[in-house]
Amino acid sequence: MRSITLLGATGSIGASTLDVIARHPDRFSLFAVAAWRSDEALVRLCARFRPRFAVIADAARLPSLRDALRAAAVPTTALGGAAALAEVACAPECDTVVAAIVGAAGLVPTISAARAGKRVLLANKESVVCAGRLLTEAVRAGGGELLPVDSEHSAIHQCLAGARETDRDVRKLILTASGGPFRTRSDFAGITPEQACAHPNWVMGRKISVDSATLMNKGLEVIEASWLFGFPAGRIEVVVHPQSVIHSMVEFVDGSVVAQLGTPDMRTPIAYALSYPGRIDSGSAALDFPRLGALSFEAPDLRRFRCLALAFEALAGGTARTATLNAANEIAVEAFLGGRLPFADIAAVIEETLNVVDANEPSSIDEVLAIDARARRGAARLIERRSSASLTVSGP
Ligand code: NAD
Ligand code: MG
Repeated sequence: MRSITLLGATGSIGASTLDVIARHPDRFSLFAVAAWRSDEALVRLCARFRPRFAVIADAARLPSLRDALRAAAVPTTALGGAAALAEVACAPECDTVVAAIVGAAGLVPTISAARAGKRVLLANKESVVCAGRLLTEAVRAGGGELLPVDSEHSAIHQCLAGARETDRDVRKLILTASGGPFRTRSDFAGITPEQACAHPNWVMGRKISVDSATLMNKGLEVIEASWLFGFPAGRIEVVVHPQSVIHSMVEFVDGSVVAQLGTPDMRTPIAYALSYPGRIDSGSAALDFPRLGALSFEAPDLRRFRCLALAFEALAGGTARTATLNAANEIAVEAFLGGRLPFADIAAVIEETLNVVDANEPSSIDEVLAIDARARRGAARLIERRSSASLTVSGP
C-alpha cells in the first residue's frame, strides 16, 4: 500500500492522479492533499478520499477550509501556508509525493520530499528547471527516487528501460512536441488567452497550455530531460509530431530508435510512475491504429517559436540562466493571461530579462529563490515599461 501526498490536488494533473488512485483502492491511499486557494475543491476531495491532512497554501483561507471540513463532518486536519506544503511532503507517514503544483512555487516542497527519500512523481517541471542539480542531489542524498510524470520524460524513461550504459548506448533523446495551437499560424498578432489555451490534443492547466502554444513548454522539457537523464543540450532533439501519439523516443548508437506510444492521456504516465516497475490499469483508452492513419513529423520553427531557442541557450548557460528563464516566463504568461502583454511579446520579455539579470550559479535553494525573485521583478518592470510605451504611442 502506497501512502501518497498529492501537491496540486485541485489541478489537471491532480484530477488525473486522483482518478488513477480511485481505480486502485487496494494499492494507494491518500495521506495529504494540497492546493493554493481553492478550499471548496479541497473539501470535496477530502469528503471523497478522507486524507489525514489538507493544506491550503494561501493561509488566509485556512479558517474557511477548517469550517467547511467541520461542517461536512470530514475528519481531515486542515493546515495553511507554504511551510505546511513542505511538511506534508516529508512526513514519515507518506512514501510517495506527487509534485503537481504549477510553477516555481513547487520547488521547496519538491526538494523537501526528495531530501526525505520519498518516491517523487515529478509533474512540476519548473522545479527541475530552476534547480536541476540541487534537486537531483537531494534525491541522491535522500535515497529516494525521482520518476517523471511529464509524458515525454515518462516515454524516455520507458524507452531507456533496457539500456545498461545509457551514456555509451544512446546517441540522443528525441522529444516530440505537438506544435500547439499555432503550429501553422504565421502571425501571432491578436492571439487571445482562450485561443492560446485551446490545445489541439491535451486538456491542461492554463499556464502549461500557454507554454505549449509558445513552445516554451518544450524548452522547459529539454532542460528537464537534460537533468533527469544526464544528457547535454547537444544530445537532445525536438521534433514536431502534431498527433501526439508518440510521446518521445530514444535513438541508440546502433541506429535503433525506440518510441513509446499511447493516447494523449496523462493517466498513463501517472499510473506508470505510481506502479513502477510494475504496470497497472490507468483508465486510458487503447490506441486504434487503423483509425489513426498517418503519423507525421516536422522540424520546429525556432524563428517563430523563439522561446524554444531561448531555452536551449539558457540550458547551455547553467542553472542561473534556466531559473531566470523560468521566472521571466511565469511572469510573462501571467501578464498575457491577465491581458497585460500581447502573446507575440512573451518571448521578447523573457529574452530581455535574460539580458538584464546577471546571476552567479546558485549553490543553495535560497540562492535559487533569490534569482527567481530578481528575475520576476526584472520581467515585471519590462512588462510595465512596454505597456506604458504602447499607451504613449497609441495615446492622443
Ligand atoms: P493546474 O493549473 O491545473 O493546477 C495547478 C495546481 O497547483 C492546483 O492544484 C493549484 O491549486 C496548485 N497551486 C498553484 N499555485 C500554488 C502555490 N503557490 N502553492 C500551492 N499550490 C499551488 O496545472 P496542471 O496543468 O495540473 O500542471 C501542474 C504541473 O504539472 C505544472 O508544472 C505542469 O507543467 C505540469 N504538467 C502538466 C501536464 C498536464 O497535462 N496538465 C502535463 C505535464 C506536466
Ligand atoms: Mg510534456
